[in-house]
Amino acid sequence: MQVIDADIVIVGAGGAGLRAAIAVAEADPSLHIALLSKVYPMRSHTCAAEGGAAGVVKANDSLEYHFNDTVSGGDWLTDQDAVDLFVNEITKELIQMEHWGCPWSREGSGHVAVRPFGGMKIMRTWYAADKTGFHMLHTLFQTSLKYPSIKRFDEYYTSDLIVDDGACHGCTAIEMRTGEMKLFRGKSVIVCTGGAGRIFPFTTNGAIKTGDGMAMAYRAGVPLKDMEFVQYHPTGLPGSGILLTEGCRGEGGYLLNKDNYRYLQDYDLGPATPTPVLKSMELGPRDRLSQAFWQESKKGNTVQGKWGDIVWLDMRHLGEKLINERLPLVRDLSISYVAADPVTDLVPVRPVVHYMMGGIHTDINAATPIAGLYSAGECACVSINGANRLGSNSLGELLVFGARAGRFAVEHAKTVKAPRDALVTAQAADAEGRIKALFKRSGGKQRVSQLKREMNLSLEEGCGIYRDEKSLRDTVAVIADVRARYRDVTLEDKSSVYNTDLYQTLELGAMIECAETVVHSALLRTESRGAHQRLDHVERDDVNFLKHSMAYYNPNGDPRIDYHEVVITKSQPAARVYGAAAGGQAA
Ligand SMILES: Cc1cc2nc3c(=O)[nH]c(=O)nc-3n(C[C@H](O)[C@H](O)[C@H](O)COP(=O)(O)OP(=O)(O)OC[C@H]3O[C@@H](n4cnc5c(N)ncnc54)[C@H](O)[C@@H]3O)c2cc1C
Repeated sequence: MQVIDADIVIVGAGGAGLRAAIAVAEADPSLHIALLSKVYPMRSHTCAAEGGAAGVVKANDSLEYHFNDTVSGGDWLTDQDAVDLFVNEITKELIQMEHWGCPWSREGSGHVAVRPFGGMKIMRTWYAADKTGFHMLHTLFQTSLKYPSIKRFDEYYTSDLIVDDGACHGCTAIEMRTGEMKLFRGKSVIVCTGGAGRIFPFTTNGAIKTGDGMAMAYRAGVPLKDMEFVQYHPTGLPGSGILLTEGCRGEGGYLLNKDNYRYLQDYDLGPATPTPVLKSMELGPRDRLSQAFWQESKKGNTVQGKWGDIVWLDMRHLGEKLINERLPLVRDLSISYVAADPVTDLVPVRPVVHYMMGGIHTDINAATPIAGLYSAGECACVSINGANRLGSNSLGELLVFGARAGRFAVEHAKTVKAPRDALVTAQAADAEGRIKALFKRSGGKQRVSQLKREMNLSLEEGCGIYRDEKSLRDTVAVIADVRARYRDVTLEDKSSVYNTDLYQTLELGAMIECAETVVHSALLRTESRGAHQRLDHVERDDVNFLKHSMAYYNPNGDPRIDYHEVVITKSQPAARVYGAAAGGQAA
């Protein structure tokens, strides 16, 4: 097997991976960086982000307000030291992005423009029209090209981390063009592989978001933290699951039920206002809005028809000029996918799985419990999102913690001498052996597409916006059955060049591992908090559950679930209030 030596190996070249690579290159230009991605970097999911990235920049705002919104938005499950650090560093990162060429939208005066976003009680979300992720990823990608020490390995599928004696020494990856397995040895490894929304059937997430890195770290012994917290975004297009950004409501769009009634006024999310005013109900946090949809559906107030169960997003009053200027992608998507022009028509929407709050357990330096193994971006849980991420905090998170991962990985690399050759090579051979065995397997009747469908539907059914013990137990049983049958999957394509059958099989393996952590953590959390709502335990229970769930891999059975303290520094848990009772910060 070919061995490729680097000082720092980075798995994933989306926003977090690229930001980490740049940080390493800047910290020490003499270090060799191997940057691996299973797709060309610009196809990473960061490219799809629409609405923007939050950072305090206006005179009426403060770091304390951003901190408070984030901590209460996360239903006090956030680690407050991490949030503090995040709100303090993000604006610097956004300005740095500007200097690297990110075309932030502007006010007439030339100042950076900000827009309202859900759960943010003050306007602080920077944006580049409604293509923010595209522009941010472009900016990071073009900046990364400046550094000769960053060597890219595009279209390399990473299969396993090489961990021995409590330290990470590299990873194995398949060059997808040839099918050859390579061993990447490194002194530090940073996992930036993005989320796992594809474990659900209806999601805004690109097809590549299959939780590969989470599963790799999990199998290597790192716990996956808070996996039961899965974010539904309230406005996905029916059919495709394509997102209509929260910017639609930020700019003043309304949600209407079948009677053309702004139903959110019944859910204690603030007053019905004729113009976009913060604290108004459409700008409530995503968990509450998705739950309100579910309630409306139970009351028979949603619209049933060719789009299934939907409500309407009304942007007609915003006018063509504003929509073209601030929401051009939303207009294109609505016309193309549901034949509705927001300038003249109501647009059908429904909640859609969007983001994993949970992920690879790290500390505020992006370090996992395994020496030399770091993680940042959506696959990591640091945790600034707690039980419910606020829209526009994720693009910021990948900058702040991507950069930190890079810097701390450099510090660690300086302490490492030569890699431990023999053990590393033996583990890589094992990883290759497992892939070869897949090719040799024959006669199995299980199909990847069928198993994936069963896993998807059972998660949506039993572990969706609302859950209860029975629905979760049913889902646990389905996932266990899918896992057992997965062992009998046979590759139909035995070729080596771009063998999508192989990668989909490996991705399904990763998704099953993520799914089991989601459902087992959800089953044991007998309370309702943020995005985790139990019909049989409707109250938040701070006495027993103000703590992070930690799912540990168990090769012989169900994951072991343990708990970890939440870091509380200055904001004591209180009721989450968005409606009339929410005083304090002015719009
Ligand atoms: C439609 C949409 C809109 C969004 N809008 C916003 C927004 O407006 N504001 C906001 O804050 N957040 C938004 N989010 C969330 C945010 O965009 C993501 O959480 C964030 O971009 C994730 O970045 P990342 O770098 O962690 O991962 P990604 O950008 O997903 O990159 C993952 C990388 O890992 C690589 N990879 C994965 N598995 C492997 C493997 N096995 N081997 C090798 N490489 C691998 C991939 O190739 C890719 O390069 C949005 C998300 C979606 C889906």
